[in-house]
Amino acid sequence: MADKDKDMDPLALTEELFAFLQGKVPEGYKIKRRHVPRLTEDQAWTVIWYCANLGRLDVFDDSIERCDVCGTLYNRNSSGDCLDYGRAPYSFCDNCMDTEQWYKKARRNPDKNLRPEPR
Ligand SMILES: [Zn+2]
Repeated sequence: MADKDKDMDPLALTEELFAFLQGKVPEGYKIKRRHVPRLTEDQAWTVIWYCANLGRLDVFDDSIERCDVCGTLYNRNSSGDCLDYGRAPYSFCDNCMDTEQWYKKARRNPDKNLRPEPR
């Protein structure tokens, strides 16, 4: 990691890695074509999730989530919602909050005080 990257937003860094794992080499780097990873979106996200959540490599910010509805990456400290109970979907970016999927899940929140008002 270059020094300038230390000041980069964790969401931007994660988006860059997410794209890299799918074959998009960051500007200024040269990597042999056959060495460039070409994972699917889901495989790339699994690598990032593993690094951030299993805590074996303490270099990733685990506040970056991937929306289970549209696939967008977002920082849960400043946007979106994470409803970590029941079945998927769990993660919702700002654009997917207040959708029917979010509402149905949020209505089942084990903490009654956090459930949205009936529509
Ligand atoms: Zn979304």
